[in-house]
Amino acid sequence: MQDEDDRQRKNSLTLQRRLEQVTPALLSEFLYKRGIPVFTCLLCGSEDIGIPECGVIQTGPDGSERKTFVDYIKLEADGPPSSIMQYQYRVICRNCGFTHHIAVWPVLKWVEEGKENAG
Ligand SMILES: [Zn+2]
Repeated sequence: MQDEDDRQRKNSLTLQRRLEQVTPALLSEFLYKRGIPVFTCLLCGSEDIGIPECGVIQTGPDGSERKTFVDYIKLEADGPPSSIMQYQYRVICRNCGFTHHIAVWPVLKWVEEGKENAG
């Protein structure tokens, strides 16, 4: 079982790297391309919307830089522990607090397939 644990740890590490590609700007662009130029709260209609994000410090040969990506949550669901299907982005209304959940996989697919091709 040691190997299996190891494999799953590597998988989730790779997934984390992939998730770090999605910046707040990319998520906005994705929504725009999908016909949502302005995100409005589904409950109260407010445009005062926040997308949680987090940052990592990346150290490379040219020093370190801070990279911001869209924060995500992981659902406690059955299935493979590092399945992309279990990850979601949250879009939170600052007015009423309603939280919209967006599945990670269509966004990541769009980013990874090259934004131009995917439309
Ligand atoms: Zn609202």
